[in-house]
Amino acid sequence: MSTNVKSDPLMSTYNRFPLTLVKGKGSYVWDEEGVQYLDYTSGIATCNLGHVPDVVKEKIEEQLQELWHCSNLYHIPVQEKLASLLVENSVGDAVFFCNSGAEANEAAIKLARRYAQKVKGTDAYEIVTFTQSFHGRTLASLAATGQEKLQAGFYPMLPGFRYLPYNDVSALEQLVSDKTCAVLLEIVQGEGGVVPASLEWITEVAKLCKEHDLLLMVDEIQTGMGRTGTLFAYEQYGIQPDVISIAKGLGSGFPIGGIIANEKAAKGFEPGTHGSTFGGNPLASSAGLATVEYLVTSDVIQRAKESGIYLESQLQELKTQCPMIEDIRGKGLLQGLVVKEAAKVVEKARQHHVLILTAGPNVVRILPPLTTTKTEIDQFINILKLVCKQLES
Ligand SMILES: *Cc1c(COP(=O)(O)O)cnc(C)c1O
Repeated sequence: MSTNVKSDPLMSTYNRFPLTLVKGKGSYVWDEEGVQYLDYTSGIATCNLGHVPDVVKEKIEEQLQELWHCSNLYHIPVQEKLASLLVENSVGDAVFFCNSGAEANEAAIKLARRYAQKVKGTDAYEIVTFTQSFHGRTLASLAATGQEKLQAGFYPMLPGFRYLPYNDVSALEQLVSDKTCAVLLEIVQGEGGVVPASLEWITEVAKLCKEHDLLLMVDEIQTGMGRTGTLFAYEQYGIQPDVISIAKGLGSGFPIGGIIANEKAAKGFEPGTHGSTFGGNPLASSAGLATVEYLVTSDVIQRAKESGIYLESQLQELKTQCPMIEDIRGKGLLQGLVVKEAAKVVEKARQHHVLILTAGPNVVRILPPLTTTKTEIDQFINILKLVCKQLES
């Protein structure tokens, strides 16, 4: 017969669940048989306003009629509006747009190096990042990622990164070398196990950056866009980062990323030094603009903050009833359960039509949309209780 039958046309880069999703609305998704699932993954912290939010859909549909793409060689009003809104609502002054989180960190890394070498006129290049961090899969963002298991097989890594243990104040005496130009960190380590930064540690990092004129760069790709109860998580620590990486929730599922830099750091780029064909094109920017407009003008973040507090209290309550839950940690609507085998909890929850994620082998990651309701949280907790009871027996 045909020798042309091939097993799988997709490269095997993902371990997919045996589930095909064809529709989504709000906190729910449906599979091809019409079975409804409560989606507490939000497309991995991306669909922060729930699936197919009307406010964003309408703006994309309007832009769809006008202009999809024109390149960054021309002015793009919707991109400029989105940048203004991000600047007005952060400590930053200027935005560069790209298409993903890894590209955002790539831009941050390039900006830090160029700022050190061309603005300050030094030969510094080294960026300090932290163990168990996650900054992306491109070669530079992977080199920034302090996890050997992700780097294995891709050596040699791009030089110029040094890793310190996260949340370890005593290790910060090693932060500065004569080659150091910047620090890149997550406010809550997401993929690395849902670990929030301690106030003491982050305050010390910020202080050292200031004293030694290093750029403080925060990767808010997962924690930004209201996820932790404020537009950006750094706001809760009283720090002033020089560069903020964003992506995931920025476009409500439409691919768009970027960095927001303050005036000082933004001097690192000049015309011709960095770019992206698609970055912030009219269609992507319309998704971003509608999303951020809604985040900053509605009460959705305030409600998300309250839902985060409620979810956390319900998880704490559940922990007292389920010995398999060793710890609860997180911030806002980014919560983690420490268990022995996280994948088993995720799989069992899926059988009960609830979608959640892992963050490493021992952490179950819960990422509800910011728009989730108390009723949904109660429904979720009930199922999680059932899952724990079934796994414990
Ligand atoms: C998801 C993520 C990235 C990478 O984003 P991609 O869009 O997958 O490239 C980088 N940093 C953090 C903190 C993330 O959560």
